[in-house]
Amino acid sequence: TPSLLWLRRDLRLSDHPALTAAVGAGAVIPVFVLDPETEALGAAPRWRLEQSLVSFEKTLKDKGSRLIVRRGAAAQVLRDLVEQTGARAVHWSRLYDPVSKARDTAVKSSLKEMGITAQSHPGHLLREPWTVETKTGGFYKVYTPYWKAMAQLDMDAPLPAPKSIPNPQNWPDSLKISDLGLGKDMRRGASVVAEFAIVGEQEAQGRLGAFLSHGITEYASARDRTDQGGTSGLSENLTYGEIGIRAVWHAALRAREEGKPGAETFLKELVWRDFAWHLIHHTPHITDESWRPEWQSFPWRDDNDDAERWRRGLTGEPMVDAGMRQMYITGTMHNRVRMLVASYLTKHLMTHWRVGQKWFEECLIDWDPASNAMGWQWAAGSGPDASPYFRIFNPETQAEKFDPKRTYRRRFIAGYGGSKEADALKLFEAVPRSWNMTPADPYPERMVDLKAGRERALDAYQKHKAA
Ligand code: FAD
Repeated sequence: TPSLLWLRRDLRLSDHPALTAAVGAGAVIPVFVLDPETEALGAAPRWRLEQSLVSFEKTLKDKGSRLIVRRGAAAQVLRDLVEQTGARAVHWSRLYDPVSKARDTAVKSSLKEMGITAQSHPGHLLREPWTVETKTGGFYKVYTPYWKAMAQLDMDAPLPAPKSIPNPQNWPDSLKISDLGLGKDMRRGASVVAEFAIVGEQEAQGRLGAFLSHGITEYASARDRTDQGGTSGLSENLTYGEIGIRAVWHAALRAREEGKPGAETFLKELVWRDFAWHLIHHTPHITDESWRPEWQSFPWRDDNDDAERWRRGLTGEPMVDAGMRQMYITGTMHNRVRMLVASYLTKHLMTHWRVGQKWFEECLIDWDPASNAMGWQWAAGSGPDASPYFRIFNPETQAEKFDPKRTYRRRFIAGYGGSKEADALKLFEAVPRSWNMTPADPYPERMVDLKAGRERALDAYQKHKAA
């Protein structure tokens, strides 16, 4: 009898414990379900998921297998498939955000009611969030001790891809991936972002290989330079599990053993990702509420016209606008600039971090519920181990340090310093027509005086703290 392999953010063959378990038990039916939870993702994440599914379907086909695609509530769809195929087991890789956990718990109990084995597996993280504990048996709220604990642990070695995937006698019906319409809300942006996205397992492995042979040496200093491609770019692949985190970890460990400078810093960044999932597992409110309850009542503004200018990359603050525009053109944003635009929105513009969190979810092809929530709360000062409230990034100083020759700003802002860079011009093909942006528009004046904005924020934060 076959097993169902329910795929979500694990679209790869290697380092895939759920797949390995399913193959070990016999025939495997790989299934993707477009459930309401996945349908609720933002436009760019959904589009990027479609790319990933198309690529993985081909990978499966090359192995002689298939991808069965269905739409509906996961519990019901999986029950139907169990009945249609006679499957006795369903395997999947665990996720740890509150939305996924609620769905997966319902799926588990519904399958168990039918007498079906419902087995979840690790694979999305280096360590399951409950296996990393403080000395007193609690979870970590601060990164540095978490990193120290992780650095002491042995991480499982990545599993090899199965040699073959046994087929069932009969395949159930399937929709086509294109029937799901996952890309439809990206509209104009899709063809622009597609030029930058690097999709699929093989490509992700190539990207890791290239980074290990070139980028990792300079990583410690280059990772903050917005004008250099100094980072791995792997987040878009990790978010859909096109590459296993344990494979990346062990490759970086080997680089450290070979004495490659930068490897240690890279390992630390990988641990930030696990830390985000550790936090979302133990404190699921991080996605919706200020993590520190005292910040729940902070008078951040709801969505507003200034925030709309921020979204459009029209604040007149070049480093901020370059970041926002990079996101529409490429689907990602440099980490240093993510911190900067988040600080600018929550502090200089005194706008709620949730407004920014939501917009990133709409626009990032590497959107991840855990890292995004943690990043926003870090910038706003409301999270665990957050940037202190008085740390207000100065976009000008940041630009001098991390984009000294204005390369990054010119690359993404047409008209800035006379820029006619090809990438900057792509913005006008990517953003909604209703924004009425054209290359002929003059670059706007600064919307907020940096000093006044900083003082206004400091004043509000100090008052709130005193109260
Ligand atoms: P590299 O520098 O090559 O790092 C390697 C990997 O380490 C990354 O792919 C990522 O998996 C992990 N990593 C690195 N930095 C962080 C970090 N600060 N937090 C968590 N993991 C990290 N990352 C996402 O993947 N999805 C998001 O939705 C997301 N939203 C963010 C929002 C804000 C406000 C901020 C400040 C950061 C956010 N990040 C998010 C974290 C970080 O910006 C990206 O992971 C990073 O820019 C990805 O580029 P890279 O793969 O080249 O990273």
